[in-house]
Amino acid sequence: KVGEAAASWTGPGATSDGHRVEILANVQDGASARAVADKPVEGVGLFRTELCFLDRETEPGVEEQAEIYRPVLTALGSRKVVVRTLDAGSDKPVAFATIPDEPNPALGVRGMRLGQRDEGLLDRQLEAIAQAAADSEGPVWTMAPMVATEDEAAWFASRARSVGLVPGVMIEIPSAALHADRLLRHVDFLSIGTNDLAQYTFAADRMTPSLAALNDPWQPALLELMAIAARAGQEAGKPVGVCGEAAADPLLACVLTGLGITSLSSAGTAAPLVGAKLSTVTLEQCQQAAEAALAASTPEAAREAARAITG
Ligand code: PEP
Ligand code: MG
Repeated sequence: KVGEAAASWTGPGATSDGHRVEILANVQDGASARAVADKPVEGVGLFRTELCFLDRETEPGVEEQAEIYRPVLTALGSRKVVVRTLDAGSDKPVAFATIPDEPNPALGVRGMRLGQRDEGLLDRQLEAIAQAAADSEGPVWTMAPMVATEDEAAWFASRARSVGLVPGVMIEIPSAALHADRLLRHVDFLSIGTNDLAQYTFAADRMTPSLAALNDPWQPALLELMAIAARAGQEAGKPVGVCGEAAADPLLACVLTGLGITSLSSAGTAAPLVGAKLSTVTLEQCQQAAEAALAASTPEAAREAARAITG
């Protein structure tokens, strides 16, 4: 039934009573961007740039990077694209950026920490994104992964703004969720990466299948951190999206909407299912589902409670 609804869903994302939630897609290159451009999504919520460089030994120059980013931006026409700066390290080793032989790479110098260690690396990427954005019809936003503190958010925001880009940061570390209101003093939006936020909240490696139950995006403690970030966004009047695996689950999308999340970005194949499900529920049902899921003591109970309310 959801499959049929997804096939006929044309967007834009909204609950049955008209509460808007942007339905976005995750991409990694021009080909995947062209594939999602045919779908009824409102743009790209996560362009994982590090995946463009997994086979590169040396850092491409600014012009060459701009050439790599441009097809993604142009594929989406006038729709928004959120470009994430390099999230190298840990599960995504990029030869020219990653620090070799760290004892614990998931807790090491990864993501934006690499840019702080080598400012040139980040500045060249921001310059390339800005060059590509200059040729795009749509809005281009940029965000940093693995941000832990307000200082780091301020640091990234000033560098991105200096080349004319709209800055945001990802919420992937519990400290960032807890201080979402402070981060929003500096950046224009937040995007919650539930894959890493779960990993760091439960101290459970996302690459270890036997720990999958702890990395379940329905874990009530994870939902609580998302609620804090969503509330901070509402108070600041700034968007707070979700771009991790959680955003691909249509039932969880209802809960996230109820928490106050403003956009959901998932694989191009999942996005229409999410949009279709949301169109069948009211904002009030979403809010009730969110409240019930937060109060549940296990992921299973949270799911059941949400299902009972949203159908
Ligand atoms: C996340 O951590 O949820 C996320 C979207 O980023 P990635 O999966 O690329 O680490
Ligand atoms: Mg991540």
